[in-house]
Amino acid sequence: MAKIEVRNLSKIFGKRPKPALEMLREKRSKDEILKETGLTVGVNRATFDVEEGEVFVIMGLSGSGKSTLVRLLNRLIDPTDGQIQLDGDDLAKMDKQALNEVRRKKMSMVFQKFGLFPFRTILQNVEYGLEIQGMEKAERKKKATESLALVGLKGYEDQYPDQLSGGMQQRVGLARALANDPDILLMDEAFSALDPLIRKDMQDELLDLQVTMQKTIVFITHDLDEALRIGDRIMIMKDGAIVQIGTPEDILMNPADEYVRRFVEDVD
Ligand code: ADP
Ligand code: MG
Repeated sequence: MAKIEVRNLSKIFGKRPKPALEMLREKRSKDEILKETGLTVGVNRATFDVEEGEVFVIMGLSGSGKSTLVRLLNRLIDPTDGQIQLDGDDLAKMDKQALNEVRRKKMSMVFQKFGLFPFRTILQNVEYGLEIQGMEKAERKKKATESLALVGLKGYEDQYPDQLSGGMQQRVGLARALANDPDILLMDEAFSALDPLIRKDMQDELLDLQVTMQKTIVFITHDLDEALRIGDRIMIMKDGAIVQIGTPEDILMNPADEYVRRFVEDVD
C-alpha cells in the first residue's frame, strides 16, 4: 500500500461541473472545455501513488494544476471526481473530525509566502498551530523549540519575523510545519522566493531532514534543477493532467513528449 493513492482525480472550478467532467472523459482539451462551458479544469483525471518516505516532486508550468492538486490532497478543496486514499483510508469518507485529525497529525503544508505573524515572536509563530490544537503551554514550547533547532534557528526564538532574512523566515515556516511531527510534508513552491544559494542550502537541509525524520515529502516546483536535485520521483503536469512520472534519470533520458523535452533542455 502506498502512503497516498490518488485515483482518477479531477477538479473543475465553477458551477455545474458534470458536462465538463464528461468532456474530460472524451479527452477534450482544457481550452475547449473553457470555451464551451465557461468552467476551468484544475486537475484532469490524475492517477498516481506517493510512496512512504520518498520525495515526490510535482512539476509543471504555471497554471498546470500543481497547487490545486496539493490542495486536494489535504482537502483544502473538494474534488469534483475521483479518490484519494491516505494510508488506505478514503479521504472522501472521513467526517470533519477525522479530516481535522489528518491535517493535524498526518500532513503539514509549507507555502511560498511564509505567512508568519509579524507581531508574534519566532517561537510564538511556531507555537501557533500547536496552540490551535489545544496543546498545553509547556509542551507546546518544548515542541516549538525543538522544531526551530531542527531547522538551525536555535537562539532566534524571541526575534520577530522582520528581523530575519527571507531564507530564515522560510525556515520558520518549515519549523512550523514540522512542529507537530507530520508523516507528510506538502510544500508548494516553498523555496521559489529564495535566492539561489540559500535555496540550495534549504534543499540540502530538507533532504537531511527527510533522511533523519523519515518524512514523505510532496514538493511542488516549476524549476527542473530543483526537481532533479531533490526528487526521488518527478511527476510532470500540463493543463491539469499528468504527462509523465519517473525518476530524475527517466525524465532526463526519456522525456515523454515535447513539453517534457522543453523542460529538460532548459537544464544547465
Ligand atoms: P499551478 O499551481 O500549477 O500554477 P493552479 O493549480 O494554481 O496551477 O491552477 C490550475 C488551473 O486552475 C489554472 O487554470 C487556474 O487558473 C485554475 N484555478 C486555480 N484555482 C482556481 C479557483 N479558485 N477558481 C477558478 N480557477 C482556479
Ligand atoms: Mg501554484
